[in-house]
Amino acid sequence: MKLPYHIAASTAVSGVLYLAFKSWGLAAASFLTGILIDLDHLHDVMREHGKAVNIQDFFRICETAQFNRIVLICHGWEWLVLGTAAAWFAGWNPWAVGALIGLAHHLALDAVHNSSDPRSYFLLWRWKNNFDFDTCFSKMTKYKYGSVSYSPKDIN
Ligand SMILES: [Zn+2]
Repeated sequence: MKLPYHIAASTAVSGVLYLAFKSWGLAAASFLTGILIDLDHLHDVMREHGKAVNIQDFFRICETAQFNRIVLICHGWEWLVLGTAAAWFAGWNPWAVGALIGLAHHLALDAVHNSSDPRSYFLLWRWKNNFDFDTCFSKMTKYKYGSVSYSPKDIN
């Protein structure tokens, strides 16, 4: 899902959380996590297209799905399980719970919007499939093959 939609969703979810619980920490953590999780795209873009990618190229590469392999280290339901355990150990700290909520709504929106396979957002399943983009995100291949293909030298 594109950044403006994640910003809108995070704003709405965080607003509801603040209205319901009057906790800035809970709302802020949900808002920030719901957006910043996508920073893990940087790793995949730089691994496949080099470190000299500018911000416009970064968004074009992501929006046209120009990946052979994709790790997306932060995009995994597994983190929700581990994060729930961490939040429990932290005594359900509002920042920890907010981060979990941000992660959960981000993954849910990505899963609905980007994936035709419910396993796509399991990190272990992507690993099992060697992080092959076409296998893990077959729904997104229409953006990859239906658009102009960019090679590293095209964007530098
Ligand atoms: Zn995402």
